[in-house]
Formats: sequence, C-alpha cells, structure tokens
Amino acid sequence: MRLLILGGTTEATDLGRALAGDVRYDAKISLAGRTVRPVPQPLPTRSGGFGGVAGLAAYLRDHRIDALIDATHPFAARMTENAVAAARDTDTPLLVVLRPAWQPVPGDRWTMVGTMQAAAEALGDAPQRVFLTVGQKDLLPFRALPHAFVLRSVDPPPPENLPARVEFIAARGPFLEPDERRLLEHHRIDVIVTKNSGGTATEAKLAAARALGLPVVMVQRPPVPPVPTVGSVADVLAWLERHHAALPRGE
Ligand code: NAP
Repeated sequence: MRLLILGGTTEATDLGRALAGDVRYDAKISLAGRTVRPVPQPLPTRSGGFGGVAGLAAYLRDHRIDALIDATHPFAARMTENAVAAARDTDTPLLVVLRPAWQPVPGDRWTMVGTMQAAAEALGDAPQRVFLTVGQKDLLPFRALPHAFVLRSVDPPPPENLPARVEFIAARGPFLEPDERRLLEHHRIDVIVTKNSGGTATEAKLAAARALGLPVVMVQRPPVPPVPTVGSVADVLAWLERHHAALPRGE
C-alpha cells in the first residue's frame, strides 16, 4: 500500500517509526522544507511544496498513492485544505491526524483570540515583556508594538519580520517545565503569546505560566475541514489496517 504522509510534526515522525519495516506499506514523508536542520525521519522523505492542489494531485497520480495521511501541524491550514481538494480530485482516501488542543485548567489565565492580529491587540498599549512562541511566519502583527519580546523558534525568522525590541532564542522542543520556569523568570516575562498547538513537546510553558501566575494569550486553531480525522498515531494505524485489508489483491 503506497502512502504519502504530509509531515513536519511529531505525529508524522512517530507514524513513520511505526510503519518503518512493515512490508505492507511503502510510505514516504513529505516535508515543507522550512527548517534548516529537519528532524531525522524514519522513512524516505521528499521536501518542498507540491505546487498547490494541482501539484499535489499530480504527485498522488504519478506515484499511484493508495492513501494520503495529513499529519501536518494544526496551524498548517493551507496544506490541509490542499490535501482535502487533491484527495477529492484524485479519489485518494485521506485521513487527517489532529492532536487534541490544549485546554485551560484551574489556575490558568488564558485570553483566547482568533487570529495573530487579535493576539497582538490583546497585549495592549502599555509596554510589557512578552514571551512569543508563535513560530516564525506570523510575526508581522507584532512588529510595530512597544513591547520587549523574547522570541523562540526553531530557526531565526527573517530580520524584516522581527519586532524592534527582540531577543531571539533558537530552540526545538521538547521543553521541560523547570527550564521553562527559569526562562520566564530570567527574562522577567509578563505575558506569553502562543498558538494552541496541542501536544506535549511545547506544553511545559503553560504549566510554568500557571505556576508563576502569568497570563497567556492563546491563539485558537483554524477550523478543521469536514473530512475523516483522528487524534493519535494509534488511530491512524487502525485506519491503515482496515484500508490495507480492503485493497484489491493482484494475482
Ligand atoms: P501551510 O501554511 O499550511 O502550507 C503552505 C504551503 O507550504 C503549502 O501550500 C505547501 O506548498 C507547503 N507545505 C506545507 N506543508 C508541507 C508538507 N508537509 N510537505 C510539502 N509541502 C508542504 O503550512 P505551514 O504552517 O507553513 O507549515 C509548514 C510545515 O511546517 C508543515 O509541514 C507543518 O506540519 C510544519 N509545522 C508547522 C507549524 C505551524 O505552526 N504552522 C508548526 C510546526 C510544524 P504547495 O502549495 O506548493 O504544495
């Protein structure tokens, strides 16, 4: 069964690990090619955009893909939209893997916002020290603000996207709560801005914020298209088993 896994996430890597060596599957992981040093993958990879819906549809046809697994990040909405359209156009079974969103617990001081622009506005006019962990491509709304930012992402953002007062930390999760607490204290952070990515790798900052009584501006996820969606790698494996069993057998 030929599989294409749209990756760039822990889930895609974990799925690859589970499928590696399973002779029933011939799977490839697709990366966007954004990070300078991507996490090593347990399966063969391809890298770079497909060229929109038409490009992905052509890839699915040319490589005779039997199933498409969209294991991209919850905020990679364009890729998911393209996957839905290309799967429909080529009649390729599609499964989206979407890790559960983080939920506030007692003690959390979250302000929920719908967009990055709203997150920037939620910081108000009075200068604050802000821990900004929204990735590197969504920084423009913060550029002209009076706040002092500590910005953490895997690779440095393009300088033209950076706010005026910024200190950059290059780091990739998983992060641990004691380290996150130390970081927040060391930089005298007043407020955290994050996307609701979910998952465990970057969750520790929320526990650290709770422990220190710090507010969090939480950017909500983009809507999920109405397609088959599961929440875990185990669910993907069960879905694949069913699809593999239903494949027509050649003589
Ligand atoms: P996006 O805005 O939804 O995608 C923009 C374009 O990038 C897509 O139209 C596609 O180009 C290309 N692309 C995205 N993911 C791809 C993949 N896995 N393989 C091949 N091409 C891909 O996505 P994004 O938010 O920039 O995310 C890019 C990658 O980083 C994804 O793989 C995602 O899983 C990972 N990531 C994203 C975030 C985040 O917060 N957004 C966080 C962690 C990891 P074409 O139209 O040319 O095909």
